[in-house]
Amino acid sequence: MLNIVLFGPPGAGKGTQSEFLIEKYELVHLSTGDIFRFNIKNATELGQLAKSYMDKGELVPDQVTISMLESEVNKHPHAPGFIFDGFPRTEAQALALDGFLASMNESITCMLALEVEETELKTRLLQRAKTSGRLDDADPAIIQNRIDVYNRETAPVAGYYQQRNKYHGIDGVGSIEDISNRLFQAIETTVNS
Ligand code: AMP
Repeated sequence: MLNIVLFGPPGAGKGTQSEFLIEKYELVHLSTGDIFRFNIKNATELGQLAKSYMDKGELVPDQVTISMLESEVNKHPHAPGFIFDGFPRTEAQALALDGFLASMNESITCMLALEVEETELKTRLLQRAKTSGRLDDADPAIIQNRIDVYNRETAPVAGYYQQRNKYHGIDGVGSIEDISNRLFQAIETTVNS
């Protein structure tokens, strides 16, 4: 299986680039943010809980997020691989993911980390707010909190994959096509090494 963690701060382009990766490698795309938003739209209990954190730009608690992710993976027993988009966001989530995949005799192939500097992220998120309808994209204070939470709680997850020689930093600035090509190249390098 090809199991990719697509990593990066909010606004780095994870969702956009996931589309190209799933098409090329026929992977199942699991975006925890999208799954939470689906639950909010359908007024589930999980959605209600997630919304109380998402509206503030805080992380949904690990236990809830991990068990949701595991049940989503279990829905695709014949998948040739997964793109984990927006997960893991804490070291506890990274550990849980490794343990869960190991129980299926699987593992993460690589982490691809989109690198984009903070002012560019803020510009992109405010631009995206015009079409995404996402409250957490529209308010500069919430955007700032999401970036702070990323720097504090999520950025260290890169170190987890660096220690395991699975980390690839990818320049996330440029045309969408150039960035996709950088991602494809990193995958080919990993798979062929
Ligand atoms: P995203 O769509 O990835 O930007 O995520 C939107 C929001 O969903 C985040 O700001 C968090 O509140 C929540 N969320 C998404 N993924 C996770 C995760 N792995 N752990 C905790 N909260 C998450």
